[in-house]
Parts: sequence; C-alpha cells; structure tokens
Amino acid sequence: MTTPIQGIHHVTAIASDPQKNIDFYTGVLGLRLVKQTVNFDDPGTYHFYYGDELGRPGTLLTFFPIPRAFQGQRGAGQVTVTGLSIPDGALDYWRERLEASGARVEEPFTRFDETALTFYDPDDLQLELVESKTPGPGVVGQASPIPESAAVRGVSHVQLQEEGYERTAALLTETLGFRLTQSADNRFRFEAGTGGHGATVDLVCTPGALPGRVAAGSVHHVAFRTPDDEAQLAWRRALIELGYNVSPVMDRQYFHSIYFREPGGVLFEIATDAPGFAVDEPVEALGTSLRLPPAQEMARAMLERRLPKITLPGRANS
Ligand code: ZN
Repeated sequence: MTTPIQGIHHVTAIASDPQKNIDFYTGVLGLRLVKQTVNFDDPGTYHFYYGDELGRPGTLLTFFPIPRAFQGQRGAGQVTVTGLSIPDGALDYWRERLEASGARVEEPFTRFDETALTFYDPDDLQLELVESKTPGPGVVGQASPIPESAAVRGVSHVQLQEEGYERTAALLTETLGFRLTQSADNRFRFEAGTGGHGATVDLVCTPGALPGRVAAGSVHHVAFRTPDDEAQLAWRRALIELGYNVSPVMDRQYFHSIYFREPGGVLFEIATDAPGFAVDEPVEALGTSLRLPPAQEMARAMLERRLPKITLPGRANS
C-alpha cells in the first residue's frame, strides 16, 4: 500500500558558472543557499541547494553547475518550466527587480486563475513567478534581501512538456495519486495531496515537438515528496510491479531517493522528507561551507583544489 505523494520535493537543473548561479538565486531571487556539496555521482562538480530559511522540502531548487557545459534545449520529454510561489500582489515588485538585475523577463500573464511572470536565469533556465493568496509554506529569513510581502515561498509547480498525454496522465492519476483539476487547450493541470502551490504538475502536450536536450539551462529531474523510508520502499515495489525501471534507494545524505523515467521521458525522483539539511551542520550555518558525504570526506583536499572557487553571499570565501 503506497502513501499518496504529498507534492514536489525539489527540482534539479544544470547550470554552467557556479558563481553566477549563486549570485542569481541568492542575490536576485533571495533564496537561501542551504547546502553546498558535490554531485555524489560526480564529485568533481558542485551541487548547490537553494530553499527557504530551513531548506524545507517543497522550497528547494538544486543545481549542478558545470563550467563550460553545453547549452541545453527545451523540448518534449522535459520539465520545461519551474514555477515559484509568491504572495498575491508581489508581481510588480519582481518585474522591476528582475529587469534591474538584467534578467530576461516577459510580460505578466493570466493562466487559469493565477497571474504569473516568465523569466530566465543566467543559463536561460525558464522560470515563472506565480502569485497566490496561499503561497507555499517557505519561511523567510531575517537575512533575506526580499521583503516578506514579496519573498518566494517555494516551488509552485512544474510544467512537463510531452509528446503525448495518456501514459503520463495515467501515471500521475492512477499511480501517484494526483487528480486532474483544470485544463485549457493543450495544458492539463494535476494536483496532489491538498493541492495548490507545491503540489501542482502541468502537463503540456506538444505532439511532433522535438525532444529537449538536458544540459546547461535545463531541468535534470523533478523529485516528489514521500514522508519516510518505509513509504519510499512501498513506492519502489509498486512502480517495479508496473514495469518501471526504478533505481535502488540512494542515500543523498539529506534525503533518500529513488529514480525512474516516466513514460514521456522525464526523470522522476521520489525523495524522503527526512533527515533534512540540518543533519550535518546547524541551521544557522546552512550552506556556508562545503559539506561532503562520509565516502567523499577522505578526498576533501583534492576536491577543494579541483572545485571552482566561489564567493558566498554576504561573506568572502577564499
Ligand atoms: Zn533530486
């Protein structure tokens, strides 16, 4: 018996320059860098996690910054838009702030009953700010450069672009526990758990569209929330029974993960809420120094020499 998916845990994308990534997500968007570590599958590459003050599931955007990475291509079989949840009335603030930062920003628009703004990060990753009367649960820190009335509260939704509808829709509704809540033209909105921001997946059907290419400026995978290891194992069994090729449970230090590819080609992850980002450094110090999993700790000196030097927000780092 599976425990229903509660919503989005995190979205992971590829970046190029690590410093530009840090400067944009902390300096412009005002997220907190909650963990500075390496890609456990490729420890010569950083893995940055940004989120709310506590780094809670549902507020997390994570990046593998790969200097000199090829530029990705948005297309079918990808998460092509990642939405961020902001309080109602905050869009004008953001439009001005993003334009002042030099980011590419489009005209605000209305979709279903929401007002949103499309913009792009320094690697051309497509993002949206979406207003809500009940924005995500993110806690805004004292050190945030953004006023509480405007600060990002978490991930609002992801948009999957797919060639077809049926098989991905069936996975979402019949297996993962989402329900179809709205649709217009080629867009179908699914919500999990209590619904709303943080629990929304938009499926956009574009038959005949070229497949996307995952590289800099594109999403690598989206992770969904499950409370604990037991619930995750139940998901693993259920998905294998349905014929999915599911990875073993991977220890990601801050959560445990399983991965599988959905029928349209997007890499899905199911990640546990526990143990969270305070497992290896205190909440006050989150993200301020390079944390390594025990298996990589022996190679710390070599990794520190090899990883590009970065400067953290508000403090100099050699
Ligand atoms: Zn992940």
